[in-house]
Amino acid sequence: MNNFSAGTGIEVFFIKDWYASAPRCRHGPMLLFEKFIHGKCQGRRYYACSACRSRKECDAFLYEDDYNRKNKCGNEIHIGQHQDDSSLLYECTFKGLASLSPSERSFCRNCQIVRLEECRQKPTDKCFQHDIIKSLSLFNLFHPSREILPPLQEDKKNAQYFLNDRSLNFILDILLQLKFTHIVCIGMPSLHEEIQYRKYFYHKNSEDVTTIIDSILLDIDKRYEQFSDQDKFCHFNMFNHYFIDESFDKLRNFVEKSESHSRICLVLDPPFGGLVDAIANTLKWISSCSFPENSKSSKTENLLPILWIFPYFMEKRITGALPSLHMLDYQVNYNNHNKFKKKITSTRISPVRIFTNIKTNDIVFPVDEGYRFCSRCDRYVAESNKHCKICNNCPSKDGRTYVHCNECNFCVKPGRKHCKNCERCELDGHECRKTGYLLGCHLCGKLTHKRRDCPLKNSQKNNDILPAKTIKTKANHAVFHRKSSHLRKRKYTFS
Ligand code: SAH
Ligand code: ZN
Ligand code: ZN
Ligand code: ZN
Ligand code: ZN
Repeated sequence: MNNFSAGTGIEVFFIKDWYASAPRCRHGPMLLFEKFIHGKCQGRRYYACSACRSRKECDAFLYEDDYNRKNKCGNEIHIGQHQDDSSLLYECTFKGLASLSPSERSFCRNCQIVRLEECRQKPTDKCFQHDIIKSLSLFNLFHPSREILPPLQEDKKNAQYFLNDRSLNFILDILLQLKFTHIVCIGMPSLHEEIQYRKYFYHKNSEDVTTIIDSILLDIDKRYEQFSDQDKFCHFNMFNHYFIDESFDKLRNFVEKSESHSRICLVLDPPFGGLVDAIANTLKWISSCSFPENSKSSKTENLLPILWIFPYFMEKRITGALPSLHMLDYQVNYNNHNKFKKKITSTRISPVRIFTNIKTNDIVFPVDEGYRFCSRCDRYVAESNKHCKICNNCPSKDGRTYVHCNECNFCVKPGRKHCKNCERCELDGHECRKTGYLLGCHLCGKLTHKRRDCPLKNSQKNNDILPAKTIKTKANHAVFHRKSSHLRKRKYTFS
């Protein structure tokens, strides 16, 4: 995922009252960014769209100082192009579509919408000569991510990767076993589809409604709207919890129908370039909407149950932002992603895991896929994750068997040797101390802290607005402390 050279990156800042005070594009409040190279700030800070990294998709861009000058009178500023994909017109509700016979409905690949054949077949119809998928089966209608909608892949950030059946079933099994009833799928169309499909047949074939599970989809891909009941899709930006179609009431009505908070589960699979702190804030915000009585007294943070799919190497960032989450050793696999596909013949292991605040020993892994229960750790782990008696845990993160190093005093990735120079285990032929800039502080290279905590930082531009104490004590805390009276600085390195 590293597509930048050592010490180069982009940071995100969250300032006081950011949500209300930032300029807006059609994807909601924009984020404040700053580029740095080898720890040096480069030029002016700027606001850009929180959802799209490619200027082609959303060209909203504004220098911070320009904005502050214009915004003196406190008017809300909207920038960027505002025409967008909200112009899809549907001929029929989803329920209506589902009640038709397959030959009566089709999908237009040019317009990316479901069409009624009786309308489309008129020679004057705009889709008359378009590229058409005819005779949509009920299965395909309920599973657009599989056959119908081509995954968006142009932009790295918006790329869509769908879970394979095993991983999807694993998640569904967790939800059913733990008796969750209301699933909020954030950037998770395939799970929403599966739940809605089951529900449809359940209603048709059974009187028993005690084990009913329901879902709502929150996604930035508007095409999914037509494949859902009207109250089950929100056009949503997960990086700033902005409802592009002002559909917040749908979410609120949905979660209010659950018997209790403990029956709701948030399941999300954000784009991996995504901003961890921003996503974490969204999860807190959704949770706080369901715990109105607690949202004011912020003594303990009430988070709804969460299953967050993300790569293992983001563990520190995630647990830094949401300390109640921990990483499961289950390897999540995708259908359309070569890197993450499980290849039985090769040794390639998916780097994608699930982060959750659900008790680990409540979650049963599939033993037939090579997982085992470690009674000493009281959790399921991959077969290759061997328990270390000295560390007293199953230490592997990346799916390989780690080896204990007596000098490091913990288990390290296989194939590394302890290097006296670097004071850590390294690969043969590494350049001593070089990697420090990648792994440790981008400013001084030390591995003991990240750039955000570097003492050198205070001498840098812009930092006069941020007391050193804040950097040190709050750096690992979650973002968006709206109550604070001074500018806070948080950073994210795109990778
Ligand atoms: N694995 C999931 C899909 C993950 S792909 C599955 O099997 O269903 C990432 C998903 O997040 C896509 O559905 C994409 O449309 C959505 N997404 C990307 N950026 C988003 C944003 N800013 N806000 C909300 N959803 C977003
Ligand atoms: Zn935008
Ligand atoms: Zn060990
Ligand atoms: Zn070592
Ligand atoms: Zn070395």
